[in-house]
Amino acid sequence: MDMIEIDGSAGEGGGQMLRTALALSMCTGRPFAMQRIRAGRARPGLMRQHLACVNASAEICGAQMQGAELNSQSLRFAPGPVRAGTYRFAIASAGSCTLLLQTLWPALMLADGESRLSLGGGTHNPAAPPFHFLERSYAPLLHRLGAHSQLRLHRMGFYPAGGGEIEAVLRPAGDGLQPFDLTERGDPVASHAECFAPALPRTVALRELEQLGRALGWTQEQLHVAATRQHEGPGNALLATLEYEHLCEVFTQFGTKGVSAETVARGLAAEVRRYQQGQAALGPHLADQWALPLALAVWRSARAACYTCTQLTAHAHSNFAVIAQFLPVRFAVQAQGTGWRVSLAPA
Ligand code: ATP
Repeated sequence: MDMIEIDGSAGEGGGQMLRTALALSMCTGRPFAMQRIRAGRARPGLMRQHLACVNASAEICGAQMQGAELNSQSLRFAPGPVRAGTYRFAIASAGSCTLLLQTLWPALMLADGESRLSLGGGTHNPAAPPFHFLERSYAPLLHRLGAHSQLRLHRMGFYPAGGGEIEAVLRPAGDGLQPFDLTERGDPVASHAECFAPALPRTVALRELEQLGRALGWTQEQLHVAATRQHEGPGNALLATLEYEHLCEVFTQFGTKGVSAETVARGLAAEVRRYQQGQAALGPHLADQWALPLALAVWRSARAACYTCTQLTAHAHSNFAVIAQFLPVRFAVQAQGTGWRVSLAPA
């Protein structure tokens, strides 16, 4: 098959373009070569967490590779058949195991049997989907496509110590993937916030929640200090979960040294308000992540589908471009109200 050539410096120029290429290469059986990997980043090339995604992908499909080394800025990846099964992958340091899961998930949901993944690394990392986002926002949408899963968080892992553990049971979409339109949130059902602050003083969590509650007008019943396990952390993630009739959104801010609890909470309140003020269905992170599974469903079923989102980031545009290189799917983007409508049609 022809090698797909991808310029890793285009658009966002980050790690997501590589992960999308890996996922779709495994789903389609099409080999790819990527040059200038992560050229948009201060330290370009394959960092430990990206290399972990490359190696794990190679393991589940027996790929042949060139350039799969730390700091490498080019990679050739020729996949073999994807093998459902039981796998364990651990990323040293706090490399994100949720991004690793998102790399393997599309191929395994199209495989011929159930897979069980045990993944070790960071579960709540800045600039990656936190475990709870995958569990509450992303997985239910895949479920509606026809790909069922069970996710369990055994232990949280934060930067820089890592050490988190996730288990994922991924079932293949037996009746094929069924695309659907997602253009409305529906009525609000419930919303709550929780603060994870393992190995930190409880006052950090209380201050963050109090500030967030005040900013959003949420009651005490909506604000929770989450229980954590021994040996987790230190780390701090403040989450807001907004459930609607048709979807659930999770917004997250991370506490870091030198940033006050109040500042973390104000950052999260601003993110939540921006979303609440919009009408579109998906927030900015789901908007870039939903494109890949939906495009797979459009391709496999030869049926069009669309979604609306409050924002389209450079991540989203770059992701659409890589997806369109692998799949015979056309993306069309239109402004709609204060947000966007993204339509996908078989090419
Ligand atoms: P790099 O190291 O190259 O910056 P990366 O490998 O960390 O990149 P990105 O290309 O930046 O990856 O992609 C990060 C992904 O994580 C995107 O899909 C983005 O939407 C998602 N993401 C980041 N923050 C959140 C969040 N708070 N909630 C959900 N998803 C998130």
